[in-house]
Amino acid sequence: MTAVRSRTPPITAPPRTGAGDLASFLATWSGRPTVAIIDLDQLTANIAHLRGVIGPSVRLLAVVKANGYGHGAVIVARHALANGVDALAVATVDEGVQLRDAGIVAEILIIGPIGANERERAIRAGLSLVVATAGFAAGLAKEVRRIGATPAPVHLKVDTGMHRFGCTPEDVVSVARAIVSQPALLWTGMMSHLATADDPDTTFAREQASRFDAAVSALRTAGLDVPTQHLTNSAGTLRFPDLHRDLVRVGIALYGLRPDPAMALPSPMAPVLSIRSRVARVSKLPAGEGVNYGQTYRAIADESVALVPIGYADGYPRTLTGQTTMVLGGRTAPLLGRVTMDQAVVRVPEGIDVRPGDPVIIAGNGAAGGDGAPTLDDLASFAGTIGYELAVRLAARLPRIYIEGGRVVAVDDLTGRQAV
Ligand SMILES: *Cc1c(COP(=O)(O)O)cnc(C)c1O
Repeated sequence: MTAVRSRTPPITAPPRTGAGDLASFLATWSGRPTVAIIDLDQLTANIAHLRGVIGPSVRLLAVVKANGYGHGAVIVARHALANGVDALAVATVDEGVQLRDAGIVAEILIIGPIGANERERAIRAGLSLVVATAGFAAGLAKEVRRIGATPAPVHLKVDTGMHRFGCTPEDVVSVARAIVSQPALLWTGMMSHLATADDPDTTFAREQASRFDAAVSALRTAGLDVPTQHLTNSAGTLRFPDLHRDLVRVGIALYGLRPDPAMALPSPMAPVLSIRSRVARVSKLPAGEGVNYGQTYRAIADESVALVPIGYADGYPRTLTGQTTMVLGGRTAPLLGRVTMDQAVVRVPEGIDVRPGDPVIIAGNGAAGGDGAPTLDDLASFAGTIGYELAVRLAARLPRIYIEGGRVVAVDDLTGRQAV
């Protein structure tokens, strides 16, 4: 029994990040046992790889919408800007203001449409906005004049086939003229968005790129000076080097998650976030008895089960029921019965002794020779969704612990953020 227990690893990040400090931090951690660990060194490595892919003359914009894809927008943004990222994008004005309030001065592009009621706040925060109509350009300029602000930076978006946002290619010259005719606006970007960048069939991505290039030519023919061009997301950036233009907008790959389940990221890119917990209870499940609501799992023979405090309220989807495993004592422990709001039950692997307080890996970081736990991308596919959705739905009540250089540098939980 003791011999087997000694194989139980401490709750740590992989050794490459210098686990010692995290282990000692967690040994005295007074917060919730279930935590997300965010490895900022892995974020640095992912950025460095992307910088290598795009080369020195292309700018790297980090997409940190939806709370930095669940990783924590402020800390991710600051770390990214200090490690090779040139600009940021978020989806909403509130998200942009949150970054400004945290003291971030870099360019922040709001990539989604905004309400007329939000214009003043966006202008005051110095956020860059996407313009898709002449009317929006005029309204925005009027607002800049009304409040006496400096010219508002804008990116013109042309819809080349995504059919979500942007002006039609036919309107691109008139919208550009509406921008440049307004001294209250600063035309700083020319963008589009690819609908099928992750599709093995590259035909439509190529078609969109040629529509984009045609729009740029039309603007030049009209005598307009076209600013920074950008059209690729993570998949487009990794798959189409010739479409990088002046800037790339990378989200999911920064976090080491896949743009598409079929698209593995090149080494050394790897997930930044892992989820750890500790066993809350160990109990016997007698043969014939069921586990949890609905008794969807019944033991055939007597077995030992462990309670882990994570549930769908943490963003661990209920659709993982019957679909995944955790790692307990270095071994695979299958999830038994339903995922409930706050708690899940796993089988204690044969032949090991597990006690309350023992570490559990719920989502691993996918490192080579790593922890053997499913990654967020794995969990997403088991749950019938994509890594994007799983990551952004990780709840605020899941404390985020940030490590850098093997040390814990910040903690963010429901009680606020503490520098460590
Ligand atoms: C979210 C988003 C991105 C980033 O996409 P990833 O696939 O996460 O890299 C880029 N551009 C636009 C317009 C977006 O909405």
